[in-house]
Formats: sequence, C-alpha cells, structure tokens
Amino acid sequence: MSISSTTSSSSCSLGSVRQVQDLWYEDGNIIFKAGDSLFKVSKGVVAARSPVFHDMLAFPQPDDQEMYDGCPLVMLYDADEDVRYFLKAIYDSGFFEPPPSTTEFDIISGILRLSTKYEVDYLRRRAIRHLDVLYPLTLTAFDRRQETRTTPWKDNTAFEAARLAREADVPWILPAVLYCVCTCPVDDMVDGYLWNDARRQLNPIDQAACVKALVPLTQADRKDMLSFLTLGAVSGCITPTDCNEARLDALRSLADAQDILNPLDSFYHMWELFEDNVCEQCVTKSKAMNGSAREAFWESLPGLFKLPDWRTLKTLQEDALRVA
Ligand SMILES: [Zn+2]
Repeated sequence: MSISSTTSSSSCSLGSVRQVQDLWYEDGNIIFKAGDSLFKVSKGVVAARSPVFHDMLAFPQPDDQEMYDGCPLVMLYDADEDVRYFLKAIYDSGFFEPPPSTTEFDIISGILRLSTKYEVDYLRRRAIRHLDVLYPLTLTAFDRRQETRTTPWKDNTAFEAARLAREADVPWILPAVLYCVCTCPVDDMVDGYLWNDARRQLNPIDQAACVKALVPLTQADRKDMLSFLTLGAVSGCITPTDCNEARLDALRSLADAQDILNPLDSFYHMWELFEDNVCEQCVTKSKAMNGSAREAFWESLPGLFKLPDWRTLKTLQEDALRVA
C-alpha cells in the first residue's frame, strides 16, 4: 500500500503523520488515526459493516472534536498495519477472500484482531477459515496442510498463531498450534521468537504448557510412533532375518539423527527406504501400527496441552463459524 508523508497543517498537533493513499478517499468524511497513519474513509461504509463503529459514530460530535482536512479525526488504539488490512478488507471485496484464496499470515491476524474487536462477523469468519486450514482439528487435514495452506511458509508462524488464538478467542486451533510450537527450537519457546524483526514471547500459559509437553511428546515419539520397529516377529513375514535387520538399521539411524521433536512425522523421510528393505507383510503391519499410533496421539493432543477435548473445541469452532 502506498503511503505519503505529510506534516499536519490542521489546528491539532499531530506531529508527523502519513496519509495511506489507497485508503484516502477524497469523498470520505471521517479520518482514523492509528500509529502515525491516517485513513480517510466514509462513516457510512464503516458503520454499515461494524456495529461498534455504528454506535461509536452515532454520538453527536463534541465541541472540541479534533479535525483534520475538514473531517473529524478519530484515534484508533490499534496497530496501524492491522487497521490498514482491516479497512482494505472492508473497502476492497477481493482483498481478503476465504480459502482457497491465498493471503498472508499478518493480514489474517490483523483482520482477525480487528474484526473481533469491531464485530465485523463475516471478516472474522473468513480469517478463522484461513487459520483452520493451517491448524485444523483433524489429523487428515493436518497431514494435508502443506498442500491446502493459504499463506506462504514463514518462520515462527506457530508462535504468532498461539498469541492470536488467545487474543482473538480462537482456542480450537491451539492443539495443532502448540504442537507445531513444540517442533521448534526450545530456545525460541523459552527466550522468545522473532517475528517481523521484533522479539516476542509466547504467553506464560502456553509457554508452560509447551515446556511440560516436551517429555510426553518425546515418549510418544519413541514409544508409540516407532513401536513397529521393535516387533520381534510379524505373522506371515517371509524374510524375518532381513526384516529384523532392517528394523534394527532404522532404529540405529533414528538414534543418530539429531532431528527436532516431531512425533507425527518422525518416520516420514524413512518410509521409502524401509519399505524397500522389509517384506510386504512387514510393510503392511508397520504402516497399520504407525497409523493407529498417530491417530491415538492426535486424539490425546488437546490433553497434552491441558486444553478441552476435540469434541468441545469442535463445538466452539462451529459456533464461531455459524452465520448469525
Ligand atoms: Zn517381514
């Protein structure tokens, strides 16, 4: 979005401010100020979309109303980036479409925060649908998220999603979000993570939940997901010596690997080689055991982070997406 800098020439002392050009409508009749950005828009348009603005702007103008460019100036105590995305979504119907349209995480978070605060329900639902693609409630959807995602990959998105889930009341994404946080370096969890060049912290509740989940996650990884590697004998196995050797090899390479914790994908890159080295019966049995372990793990995920169960979270999601 283009911005032009200007110094306030009105009676009020605004200091150095910038008019956001693509949200500066000459026929606008109200000016919002957020940070040092100014937006000239129509009262009628924002009031029609947001009951909060409708009520706020319905009050008669006070005598000491601050003015700019001949219009009332209203301070918004929100991040100017968030206000830009939010007003852009209100004015430009193609700017923020629901999935499968693509967008960016910062746009989703800005619009979700402000559509929640200013009660623009259709934008909140759209933002939620984007988040649900990235942090779904089912394992099947989680396994497909790299194909279905609507935002480009960006480092530390899960940390930022955790903050957003708390701020904008979207708790049902938290099991998948916190799981993803736990697959990141522990230092980022404890000391803070980088987002748009700023260091930020998880909130203390999520930070504690993630740290406490690390041991159970490690146990799930070693004990449950990889239990098919410690089978003594598989019924119908035609080459037990070779198959046992292949299982032992796989265990050895896993022990050497210094990979980050990621139980759901702990064997992901090894399946191909493993399948080449064991018989068909062992492949079938191993995949079934790993599949069941992954499903049981997914079922237990909310509990690992002391969150309500999936059924409760699903109800919250359905309520949030219901058109009133
Ligand atoms: Zn076999």
